[in-house]
Parts: sequence; structure tokens; C-alpha cells
Amino acid sequence: MKADQPPRSVGPDTRPHSKPGIGAHGIGAKGKRAPAISATAIETAPALGPTSQYFQCETDTVIERIDAIEPDAYARTRNDLDGAATWLGPFLAHGITTTAEVATRVRRKHATDVCYRLFFELAWREFFHRTWERQGEKIYNDLRTPPTAPTTRQRNARLPQAVLDGDTGIEVIDAALAHLLGQGVMHNHARLWTAAIVCNFGQTDWRPAARWFHYQLLDGDLASNTLSWQWVAGTFSNKRYVANQSNINRFSGTLQEGSWLDVPYEAFDDFPLPDKLIPRADAVIPATLRGEPLTSRSVSTETVALRSIWNLDPRWRPDIDEHIVFVDTDWLAAWPLADIRWLFIEHWSNRSGASLVYGTLDELCETAKTTPFVRQEYPACDAWPGVIEARSWLYPDPEKPFPSFTRFWKQVSPSVGL
Ligand SMILES: Cc1cc2nc3c(=O)[nH]c(=O)nc-3n(C[C@H](O)[C@H](O)[C@H](O)COP(=O)(O)OP(=O)(O)OC[C@H]3O[C@@H](n4cnc5c(N)ncnc54)[C@H](O)[C@@H]3O)c2cc1C
Repeated sequence: MKADQPPRSVGPDTRPHSKPGIGAHGIGAKGKRAPAISATAIETAPALGPTSQYFQCETDTVIERIDAIEPDAYARTRNDLDGAATWLGPFLAHGITTTAEVATRVRRKHATDVCYRLFFELAWREFFHRTWERQGEKIYNDLRTPPTAPTTRQRNARLPQAVLDGDTGIEVIDAALAHLLGQGVMHNHARLWTAAIVCNFGQTDWRPAARWFHYQLLDGDLASNTLSWQWVAGTFSNKRYVANQSNINRFSGTLQEGSWLDVPYEAFDDFPLPDKLIPRADAVIPATLRGEPLTSRSVSTETVALRSIWNLDPRWRPDIDEHIVFVDTDWLAAWPLADIRWLFIEHWSNRSGASLVYGTLDELCETAKTTPFVRQEYPACDAWPGVIEARSWLYPDPEKPFPSFTRFWKQVSPSVGL
């Protein structure tokens, strides 16, 4: 294991119960109870991912981590909780690196066919973002009617208390939830299982759950998160995603038996709401602000680099003296961010030499009357003023419609020689 790589096994600094901040993010209905993590879970849980500190690094470190990716190991073990995931999520979601940069650098050291699985997974990000470009705000509601009743609208709008408390009774899920709430990090497979528990076993509307997840995750991404929840819930796929205890044990290395999920797959054809998931609560996700009001900034008539929280690459536009990271307060009210995410944003704003400012869109447009802005294209910033630069993509924009990832992949994969 490279010194710089995230830990692959539970050690003192990755144990969920040792994290500062667990319980400090308003979890649970009243925001009072810390997640109940059983001693067994702590002993048996495999790697749950790095801590949040791992992501507050230098740009050179991000590049070194990209160069250290072993695509062969990634392909073999990516689905295992202690496998060779890249943990690049927060850097990609905030534009600190890009899918194109990752692919270009990895291909310098490895043959394209070895990179197949990595490039395939990177394509999921672009599939979700191209879908967002085309569907716009529609992605925030069901894109399809779910395959079987109950429909999303008939589902509970409040989350299972057991999920908010990290007390589902599925030991590795509870450990992964504690790690999410404390560190803002969760492995892809644990995300799938959690979403299945919330939506498909817990009969919950995916929308409040997706907002809660986006709040907690360091890599919370409007397109990838929203559309992944829809994919699990069956409103953006042909069937709902389910997993039983045996599947969870297989990919997490746990040995748990006798849980409410310890059933054969046939049992899911007619699965009653488990007792554990009956009590409900609203997720507490307070909108907190960081930075200074945009209106308190001194007026500039020179070009200003207008960044969003999705464009925090310190290497962007070094030719421009003044950089600001603008947070739209109306957007933030709809999509609050956890404190731990703010620390990440502040770190990378500092690395970019940018001041963090907030205000309304009207205030930004007013400022643009005197200050020329340049910014990057991004769907959540469509109404922002300024000269717009294209953002980087690994894959070309597909010419034909792509209602599914398979249709997307078929069109774009030849562009990278796959
Ligand atoms: C319910 C749910 C919610 C999710 N929410 C988010 C989110 O808010 N932000 C986010 O970036 N991803 C999200 N994902 C997708 C995926 O779980 C994460 O991208 C991945 O876990 C990030 O860890 P990694 O960088 O180690 O991934 P790796 O496996 O190392 O992949 C490298 C990169 O490829 C992209 N990628 C890989 N798999 C996927 C995928 N299935 N979908 C989209 N992109 C992918 C990511 O940018 C990722 O950083 C979600 C998945 C689920 C099931």
C-alpha cells in the first residue's frame, strides 16, 4: 500500500466510533442521538473509506493519487468495500480534477483494455451529467413510473429513523452510515445497499433521502446523487435494486447471519415493511452559510474569475488576479451542505486563492453590471452572468438519444478505443 493511499482496513483512524463529529450534524429526528454502532460491526467492518482530512490536501497530491491508480486491481476489486476504489469522488465532484484528466494520466502508464472498468465507471458520471444537461430540473422528480407499486408518490416522505440513526441492524451498513455522518464518505456498494434499504425495503420516497445524502457526502453531486437514487428506486432503470445479507457479506467481508435481510432473493417479490424500518423521522439538514456577503466585496472593473463550488481547481485561470467562489443562497436553501463539506470547500477555495462569497442570483447579476466575470459552464449555474468557458469531458456528447447507460456507453466508448 502506498503511504499516500487511503487505508484499506479498519485502523485507529478509520474506526467509525472514533470519529469526531458523529452526532454533530443533526442526525436523527431530533438531532440528538448518535448512531448506534454495535461492537460486532466495529470488529467485523472492513475499510469504510478515508477520513475527511484525506481530501484536504494539495493539488500535487491529487495528481499523485491519480498516477498511483492500478486499473487492474480496480477492475478486480472495486465492488469490495476494501477494494481498490480511487476515492477521487470529492475531487471530481468539485472540479479539482476531471474525468478526462484521470483517464489521460492513467492511460500514460496502462494499456487501454486494462482501463476498461475504470473508464466504464467514469462514464457513469458523464452519463448522469449529460442526462442532467438534457433533462434539466426534471431529474429532481421521477423520470419514469416505477416498475411496480407503490409509486414514489405513495411512499413515505419521512426517512426510516433506523437509517438516520445508523441503527438498521445490518452491521456493516450501520458502520458505513456512521462513517458517512462523521466523515462524509461512503463506498459505492454501501450507497447502493443504503438506498435499497431506504427506498425499496423501507418504502420511502427517494427525493428526501437523496437530499439528505447530498447533504452528508463530501462528493455530493446533483446529477450523480439524484440519478443514482432514481436508479436504485426504479424510476431511472428497469427494475429496483435490491440486495440481501448474503450479498452484503460477500462484498463487505462480514459474516452476519439472522438479520431481517438474511433471506433469499425470492422473498423480495413480496417483502413486507420490516419492523426495524417502521419508525420515521425527518432528516435534519440545516442550511449553514460560510464566507462573506457578495455585496460587501469592493467593486472591481477588472475581470474576475467566478467559480462555483463545482469548480475549485486551483489550476484554473491563473492569469486572472481575483477569484471568487459564489454560493447562491436560494440554491443552498434547497441543497444545504454539512459542516464537513464546508471545510472541504473552504480548503480548496483557499488553495485556489479565491474568496468564498454568498448572495442571491439578483445580487450576482447586479455585480456583473460593473464587474466582468468569466466562469465555467455548469447546469446548476445556467443563469449566472459572465463569459462562459466549456467544461472538460472525457467522452463526446452522444449524437443519438440514450435512455439508458448501455445506450450511452455504446455510443461513447469507441472514442477512447474500447
Ligand atoms: C445512492 C447513491 C448516491 C450516490 N451519490 C453520488 C454523489 O453524490 N456524487 C458522486 O460523485 N457519485 C455518487 N454516487 C456514485 C458512486 O457511488 C460514487 O461516485 C463513488 O462511490 C465515488 O467513490 P470513488 O471515487 O472511490 O469511486 P471509483 O469507483 O473509484 O470511481 C472513480 C470515479 O468515477 C465516477 N463513478 C464511479 N462510479 C460511479 C457511479 N456509479 N455513478 C457515478 N459516477 C461514478 C466517480 O466520479 C468516481 O469518483 C452515488 C451512488 C449511489 C448508489
